[in-house]
Amino acid sequence: MTTPLLDTRNRALRDLRISVTDRCNFRCTYCMPKEIYGKDFQFLEREQLLSFGEIHRLVRIFRDHGVEKIRITGGEPLVRRKLERLIEMLAYYPDLDLTLTTNASLLKQKAQALKDAGLKRITVSLDSLDNDTFMKMNDVDFPVEKVLEGIEEADRVGLNPIKINMVVKRGVNDHSVVEMARFFKGSGHILRFIEFMDVGSTNGWQMRHVVPSRELAAMINAEMPIAPIDPNYVGEVAERWRYLDGSGEVGFISSVTQAFCKDCTRARLSAEGRLFTCLFATEGTDFRALIRSDASDEEISEAIARVWRVRGDRYSEIRTEETAKLRKVEMSYIGG
Ligand code: SAM
Repeated sequence: MTTPLLDTRNRALRDLRISVTDRCNFRCTYCMPKEIYGKDFQFLEREQLLSFGEIHRLVRIFRDHGVEKIRITGGEPLVRRKLERLIEMLAYYPDLDLTLTTNASLLKQKAQALKDAGLKRITVSLDSLDNDTFMKMNDVDFPVEKVLEGIEEADRVGLNPIKINMVVKRGVNDHSVVEMARFFKGSGHILRFIEFMDVGSTNGWQMRHVVPSRELAAMINAEMPIAPIDPNYVGEVAERWRYLDGSGEVGFISSVTQAFCKDCTRARLSAEGRLFTCLFATEGTDFRALIRSDASDEEISEAIARVWRVRGDRYSEIRTEETAKLRKVEMSYIGG
């Protein structure tokens, strides 16, 4: 084990989110709007993507720098062919907290293979239980029922506890918040509300679209009393609240109204191997060229250290309506 790698704000590198594809079969209006991601959009070609072997090699090197948690994401990770092979390769490290975020559209078919490959947990995105609202948001007419079937199957095969992420956008799905809480309360799954963020520069973000977590907590509390509880660990993204009747917990991810940059230990690797040190970054560092050269593991390791040691990102702490207009990298590319 090497000494922990620290950035300029004394934050260690602990988590790595890996995007395995920039493609998605949904066109969520707040993430991959159809006007931009239409049929003419140039997604990455297959040979531009990091291979599973390349990802595996990078993960091995990142582990030596102290990375303990890997989240596979995208785009939609389950549209990458044979993803379970990558899971199997990464599950080789038993101490690695390995998880995956998905829209669940293909989960019913894939859950068992993912579990067999060694995946332990899963996070599912679901923005409403109201079919009309959900279909309008995913913009490909994908029904709620199929997502729920995916969740059920994941639960059945043991990919739990399942986290359910709901992005809340004012005037779009905030009317679904209490219904979602009611539905997942007592289910053993953990529902988490995410404040709509100004990631990328194509989703038309404005502060008035954000429903602050405090407001969401008050809405839920009015019907189902909740109280805050301690985080599981320092730097946990979601603030945890428990139902006072003992029927589980909910989480709030308040990247806009209560920024958590000071404890952020996350790096992101795009599908084509660019390393980003912040979700709101404008630029990344190319590791694909390096890994496809004859660079040794030591050289790659040193390159990672160089990127992390100069990291000073704290975008969410200094966000304004003006910074929101910067040309930031898109979430579907960098990985959510
Ligand atoms: N396709 C997968 C999925 O749906 O979970 C993984 C990638 S997706 C980009 C990851 C998460 O980012 C989803 O929960 C999505 O709702 C969330 N997301 C996308 N754009 C967002 C935004 N502007 N603000 C907050 N969350 C966002």
